[in-house]
Formats: sequence, C-alpha cells, structure tokens
Amino acid sequence: MIVSSENKPIDISAPQAWSSPLQEQRSCSSFDFDAIVVGSGLGGLACAALLAKHSIKVLVLEQHYQVGGYCSSFQRNGFTFTSGVEDISGVEAGDTAQLLAELDLKKEDLFVLNTRMFIIGDKRIRLDGTKQGTVSALSKAFPDEAEAIVRFIDEAEYVLRMEDPGNETVQSWVSITYQQKLDQYFRNPELKSFFCSLLVYIGMPADQVPAQAAIGPCLSYFIVGGYYPKGGPQNFVNSIRDYITAHSGKVLTNKHVDEIIVSDGIVGGVRVGDKTYSSPVVVSNVNAKTLYQRLIAPGRVHKVFVDAIGALPMSISCCMVQIGTDIDLSCLPSHIQVLDKGAHCHCVINSNADHSLAPEGKSSLTFICGGDYRKTPPRGTPEYARYKDERAKTIISRAEAGIPNLQDLQKHILALDISTPLTFERYTSMPEGAIYGFEQSIGLTRPNFKSPIRGLYLASSSTAGGGVESVIGAGLTCARDILGKNTAHSSSS
Ligand SMILES: Cc1cc2nc3c(=O)[nH]c(=O)nc-3n(C[C@H](O)[C@H](O)[C@H](O)COP(=O)(O)OP(=O)(O)OC[C@H]3O[C@@H](n4cnc5c(N)ncnc54)[C@H](O)[C@@H]3O)c2cc1C
Repeated sequence: MIVSSENKPIDISAPQAWSSPLQEQRSCSSFDFDAIVVGSGLGGLACAALLAKHSIKVLVLEQHYQVGGYCSSFQRNGFTFTSGVEDISGVEAGDTAQLLAELDLKKEDLFVLNTRMFIIGDKRIRLDGTKQGTVSALSKAFPDEAEAIVRFIDEAEYVLRMEDPGNETVQSWVSITYQQKLDQYFRNPELKSFFCSLLVYIGMPADQVPAQAAIGPCLSYFIVGGYYPKGGPQNFVNSIRDYITAHSGKVLTNKHVDEIIVSDGIVGGVRVGDKTYSSPVVVSNVNAKTLYQRLIAPGRVHKVFVDAIGALPMSISCCMVQIGTDIDLSCLPSHIQVLDKGAHCHCVINSNADHSLAPEGKSSLTFICGGDYRKTPPRGTPEYARYKDERAKTIISRAEAGIPNLQDLQKHILALDISTPLTFERYTSMPEGAIYGFEQSIGLTRPNFKSPIRGLYLASSSTAGGGVESVIGAGLTCARDILGKNTAHSSSS
C-alpha cells in the first residue's frame, strides 16, 4: 500500500464517494456541454455514444485527424491497412455486442468472422471460428489428445458463459495459472503451444496469467470466434462517430487537449490551446499516466497518488509491418500464425476478411512482431531507418519461409509501411506505445474509473485492461455512472 504524507494509505483503485454531477439537482445550463470526452479511442466513443443516446450534450475532442485511436485504418497505394485492431471479441455476446445493441447497429453490417490457420511443424490446423470446427480440427491434428480437447473446450466455454464468479468450476480457473491448467489437460507440447498462440492478446506468458484471464482474450476466439471490422477498423469507429453526431453530439478532430481544468477538487472543463470548453463532467480516454502527469496541473491531485500511477508498468508494445502485394492470397484464411520455435510469424490477410481492402487479385497484409520501446532508436535518425528496415526484412524472410504462397513476397511488394512503438506513442500519446495500456499481469492494481477529482472519469484500457471488448466495457460503465444507472464501483469495469 502506498502511503501519503499524512501517513494515510492511498489506494488508486478505491471507489470515489462522489456521484454523477449530472444526477445532482443543480442546473448545468451555465456549461458549454454536459460532458466532454477527451480522446476518441473505442472507450471514449462507446461512452460518448451512450451519453448521446440519452440526450446528454456531449463533445468528443480528438488530437488526431481521424477518430479511433488504436482502432483505425490508413491507405497506401490503393491498399487499406489496420493501425492496430484486427481480431475483436465479444461480438456474439459480451460488451461489444452490448454496445451494438445499445446503438441499434447490426453485427452483420459491421463485422466478418475471422478464419485461421496455425502452422506447427508439418501440421496445418485450419479453424473456421466455431467451437465445433476447433474441436474437430484439433482432434484430427492431435488424435491422442482428442478426448482432453473436448473436455478442455467444453469447460472453457462453460466458464466463458458463466456469470457467477463463485461457481466451483470458475474458481478452478481463478486459482491457478494458464500454464498449470494446460498441464492438467494436455501432454503434447505442440498442442500446448497452440493454446498459447493468442496469449499475444494479453502480452504475458502462460505462467504469469491466471487461467481465467486467458478465457476471454485467448480461448473465446476458438469457441465463439473473433471478428474483423468490415471495411477496416476505421469503418467501425466512424459508425459510432456518426451515431454520436446524429444524436446531437459533437466530435472534433485535430483538437489536442492541453489541460483538464480543475478547481477546488472539481472538474470544470478542458483547454485546447487558448480556447476553453466548460463542462461538469470530463471523461478521459487518454492513458491514466498521461492524464495525471501531463493534463492536470500539479497540486490538483495528491502527489503520492500521481506518483503511484506514474509507477505502473506499461504493457508490451510491438512493430507492425503492413504490405500490399500483387500475390492473390484469397485461397488462405484471414489469420495465419506460424508457431515453430525461432520462426514465429503472425500474418493477417486483411483483404481475405474483406476483399475491398485491396485492389482485385491483390492482397493487403499486416504482420505483427516484437518491438521493444526502450530498444527503438530515436525517430528521424539513420539508426531508426535501419531498425525499421531490419524489422521488415526479418518479417518478410519469415513469411517467405513459413507461409504458403508467400515464398517470393519480397519481389511482389507494391506498398510497405512499418509502425514501431514510437509510431504508436506518437499517434495516440500512449506511453511507450503500449498495446494494452498498463501491463496485464496478475497482481497489477488499476486506477478506478472515477478519479479523486469530482466529475472526472476514466474510460480506457487504463481502467479495464487492453482489448476492444474491455475498453468498450469501460466506456459503457462510465456512461452508465454518469447517467445514474450504474451499480459498479470496482476498479476494473
Ligand atoms: C498493434 C495493435 C494491435 C492490436 N490488436 C488488437 C486486436 O486485434 N483486438 C483487440 O481487441 N485489441 C487489439 N489491440 C488493443 C486495442 O486496440 C486497445 O486496447 C484499444 O483499442 C484501446 O482503446 P482505448 O479506448 O483505451 O483508446 P486508444 O485507442 O488508446 O485511444 C486513445 C485516444 O486518445 C487520443 N488522445 C490522447 N491524448 C489526447 C489529448 N491530449 N487530446 C485529445 N486526444 C487525445 C489519442 O489520439 C487516441 O485517439 C491492439 C493494439 C495495438 C497497438
């Protein structure tokens, strides 16, 4: 426990006693807006959309030229690439589905089910995104473990759908690590490595993740499927932006919020350059470290609290290599992972999820690979250019060696772009270009979604953990509290 100068313990996850300023009797008419959301990542957009639905006068301010944060896309030479997100959970049932239902958006209009191939040694395991397909493909690839596969997937599905955390089976996933759970069921190391393949979505190794924590971000993709946003991630976030503006909300891009205005422990609005926008409620979609260290003037929040937030470790980052090629890969699934030791390769064929993302007969590819913020040379230096070059070469040679039909990739490149941890940091102000906000380890305490400043909320991966479904959940929790509809007061939403 961190202790303040008055020797009082400071718990960053502690619920705050204040209730929504909008639910109090005082008139809000003297303010420019009822609520201001800083940042248009999915946590911010989900919150703003639910507020707009309930006739709250909401303003979203985004520093970038387009909305979406890590859930966005860009074009090069006729190809569309993703800036981050390519595999979304909770679309069938979960927080993503809840948002769609709240906004009356149709899953079929916005998403397409991802298909996958895993390459392990001489095995090619193709999955169609359904539980039955997973069980059948895995049992064929690992016949000696077929019975254990059925039991494991059944139990994981049961825990995925079970809402009672006290349930005995759920508890058996809480008390041990994911590695221990896999060891209880399986002997074959290749099968275990298959079940660890999507741990990249948590960014921690199996022996540091509670088994239960692996169910949503990893195993759910094998049971209920993961989804790619139709037309690219930008299309999804633009649909939410359009919902907000159609419900009298305002979304302004190219607006970097310089300060969150606070006096006497109460939020009063934000400052963008020399313009202020007043509001009794401000929702920060910005990472909590950036929020408390850079956007709030010193002295407004207890220093020990700010230092405790500052000391939280960030999650892993990565590099992304985006390639447009004239090779037609339409015979392959949308996601391919090579799991062989020393030859790991994660390739997303965006144009196989949605053909409109590449010109006809061509393919839009995204490769995700390791990228260490501290080892990335400064932007604009020759070392940085060399670093990017080296990352691209490694990925291309791994793809050529491991992925069917890509043996000659180097000779067929029509567009190439490389994002590093510094790129992610630059475009989103996320410290260290962290993929998931704070580290997703077992013992990490997250800040509460209500700050010590009355009227200032947090809705982002900082409070809920990384991933689209989690941050949508964070945004909905926040909006419900503002609307006076919340019962949750926990640190994670
Ligand atoms: C490479 C990569 C791949 C990923 N793949 C997946 C995936 O397949 N599936 C999945 O579920 N998750 C994935 N994630 C994680 C997921 O994208 C994030 O956890 C989630 O999108 C974060 O949303 P957020 O609401 O916290 O905000 P962010 O996306 O972090 O956005 C914050 C926004 O705030 C804006 N902002 C910051 N400071 C200011 C300021 N001062 N003024 C105004 N605006 C400001 C930023 O510009 C940004 O738009 C991936 C992430 C990365 C980086």
